[in-house]
Amino acid sequence: MVARLPIRDDLQKMDGYHSAQVTVPVRLNTNESPYPPPDEFTTELGRRIADIAWNRYPDRTASALRAAIARSHGVGVDQVFAGNGSNEILQTLLLAYAGAGRKVLTFEPTYQLHAHIARITGAEVVSAPRGADFRIDQSKLADVFSTYSPDVTFVCSPNNPTGVVEDEETVRAIIETAPGLVIVDEAYAQFASWSAIDLVDESRALVVTRTYSKTWSMAAARLGYLVGPKWLVEEIDAVVLPYHLDAAKQIAGALALEFTNDMNSRVREIVASRDQIESAFSTLPVDFWPSGANFILFRPRSMDGRKVWSELVEKGVLIRDCSSWPGLTNCLRVTIGTPEENDLFLKSLSEVLSK
Ligand SMILES: *Cc1c(COP(=O)(O)O)cnc(C)c1O
Repeated sequence: MVARLPIRDDLQKMDGYHSAQVTVPVRLNTNESPYPPPDEFTTELGRRIADIAWNRYPDRTASALRAAIARSHGVGVDQVFAGNGSNEILQTLLLAYAGAGRKVLTFEPTYQLHAHIARITGAEVVSAPRGADFRIDQSKLADVFSTYSPDVTFVCSPNNPTGVVEDEETVRAIIETAPGLVIVDEAYAQFASWSAIDLVDESRALVVTRTYSKTWSMAAARLGYLVGPKWLVEEIDAVVLPYHLDAAKQIAGALALEFTNDMNSRVREIVASRDQIESAFSTLPVDFWPSGANFILFRPRSMDGRKVWSELVEKGVLIRDCSSWPGLTNCLRVTIGTPEENDLFLKSLSEVLSK
């Protein structure tokens, strides 16, 4: 029998990606939409999927999907690239612009997969701390960039798991100061007040990534995309696996955009619920950070975060335990759910905190 083979030295100490998938009635831990897409969408999708020529490879350039995405943002079709979730977009960008011998910068705390995927590509990950209230500190940018000279810099806005939306001024300063590629991850953009897509330009090394997993209620589809300069899209097209995007997904992504009004009204409902939860938080013994996304980061003032998390699980409510993450001691993150789920969460939380 062959002994278990060692993987690459630089990957041996890495953990996989963990988010507890516990089966409980109220799941508010992965920032999914609590609402499915509209029935008209699912019915029409079924019809169109039946017409796929399943014996043939799909359109390698996903041209109809890219055109639909480009139209929705008022950008050129050659400025759009789609992938299997924005995670695949990030991986492809990092394979092309990071990898062995190159450096990737993150502002911590932020989305763990930025550093994780960068390491898998063989890149060295360097990080700078965020300033007060988890904002990127503009006054430190010049220092950070001259210390590290990163080939790729990540900005996550709204930032996961803090919910903080960076100012346009900060993002502009980062683009102007960063020596390499800047990736703005806008997984939650529709919940926020502005988007860096307007800053995309042929003369800037800037890409903005988006996903169908959150606002579009399509986490099961695994679909994401980027908007960036044409020259970058050309390079990325050459790096990604051929025929990576299956035919059903290409159809689903373009069709979803015909239901933009439904998406916007789901977003409005979630934002209204988010406001309600934030007001409820003001009356509880917790600190929280006002959010521009579909989740809120909070910290119990006088109880252990991990304990609050597990007592909530016992009551059938699953949220995200960030209490042991660097820079987030005792913090927990709750995804906005349906009004019923939010009520159950708030009721359970106040019971746990008042014990
Ligand atoms: C959820 C999330 C994503 C989504 O990734 P997909 O691969 O598109 O599901 C990307 N970035 C951030 C910051 C997220 O929170």
